[in-house]
Amino acid sequence: KASQAAEKRGWHLYLVGGAVRDLLLADTTGTLMIKDIDLVVDGFHKSADVGAGVELAKALQQIYPAARLEIHGAFQTAALLWHKDPEFDSLWVDIATARTEFYPYPAANPEVEASSIRQDLYRRDFTINAMALRLTSPRAGELLDFFGGLLDLHAKQIRVLHANSFIEDPTRIYRGVRFAVRFNFEIEPQTKEYIRYAINSGVYDRTTQENSRTPALQTRLKAELKHILEAPYWKSALQLLDDLGALQCIHPTLKLERELLWQLRLLERCLQRFDPQQTLIHWQMRLEALIAHLAPEYRAKVAENLQLPEDSIARLKNLAQSLCQIVESLPNCQSPSQVVQLLRQFDLPMLILIATYSPRVSKLRRQIWHYLTVWSHVQPILNGNDLKKLGYKPGPQYRQILDNLLTATLDGAISDRIQAEEFLA
Ligand code: ATP
Repeated sequence: KASQAAEKRGWHLYLVGGAVRDLLLADTTGTLMIKDIDLVVDGFHKSADVGAGVELAKALQQIYPAARLEIHGAFQTAALLWHKDPEFDSLWVDIATARTEFYPYPAANPEVEASSIRQDLYRRDFTINAMALRLTSPRAGELLDFFGGLLDLHAKQIRVLHANSFIEDPTRIYRGVRFAVRFNFEIEPQTKEYIRYAINSGVYDRTTQENSRTPALQTRLKAELKHILEAPYWKSALQLLDDLGALQCIHPTLKLERELLWQLRLLERCLQRFDPQQTLIHWQMRLEALIAHLAPEYRAKVAENLQLPEDSIARLKNLAQSLCQIVESLPNCQSPSQVVQLLRQFDLPMLILIATYSPRVSKLRRQIWHYLTVWSHVQPILNGNDLKKLGYKPGPQYRQILDNLLTATLDGAISDRIQAEEFLA
């Protein structure tokens, strides 16, 4: 339908980017799952019609009223979204006008101008992502591969399109690593050199500097980190980022040291044990663990730059102080109830972060572990209804009575209802 609508207007329509790559990969792997489709409209004459993608998307929405239409003016793109639709399940179709990008300065947000399909493909990140499949006739079904993407796909190589690519957009380093690890490809040696060159030339300064003039870059870096840290291959990806020196884009001092690896393993154990339902955001906890590994004075700033949510920034800001408080107070706790009183001031993500962050202080970790597995689940043996039946007048004193019961239960003074009633008497 989309190609018919384009042909009717005398335009060419192409399938581009990840969907072409995944289609070609499916030839060898036999598996294909595409949820995102990128289409590019091209074929205008002199007065390039920058609104073509939007016009086509509007025409398609008339044909498929169940699809939601979104228009992104600045980049002349439109998206059609089918969400849990009987016809398409869940599908996202981006329709853009062929375009060229200019970077007004390195690591800036690109500025865009209408252009031809070749130039559109040239602005992309890697050869395997820079192929197009023509959908309109004549020659529908033809593969446009100007940069050797198919060869690289067969050779399992991640190859960048031009030398300046990583300087223009450092998040491509993260994308390259993500594709390499996901497909089990190699980053081609020259591309590795370009990555190292970009990093050595300080491209990450622009991603980490205070009051960054390129906040959109931080947003894209965060999006890439999310992609990586929620994927099953996140550990190998971090390892490769570290080998390339690319963790410096998060902070110049960040390295995947043995201690940090240990902390990340511990974090996984904590998340599996204490949050099996995934009520916490696990990729974000992994990112917090990386940031927690930095010196305390950098943590909040890095979290703010990456635009993490308020609670996450607060956690990283307060981590050192909370850890200090626990390290100082825990040895003075004489009973389980005192440990509970101390630790219940902190929520689960903070306790997980503290437990993860303090591997050397193993007694502390054991206490937190025991608190989370056992003590935090202990309830007073009687509840408010029981107190009522025993003749206590409902009121604010209930809280105190139940607290006293909890303390006695935790410290082993009572273990059943009879003992609890005797205790109250
Ligand atoms: P995935 O399967 O992970 O979604 P994808 O290749 O479809 O992979 P997208 O992030 O959806 O990834 O991007 C779509 C296409 O847009 C890419 O294939 C690539 O051609 C281009 N692209 C995306 N991000 C960049 C970037 N930072 N620089 C250059 N080209 C990019």
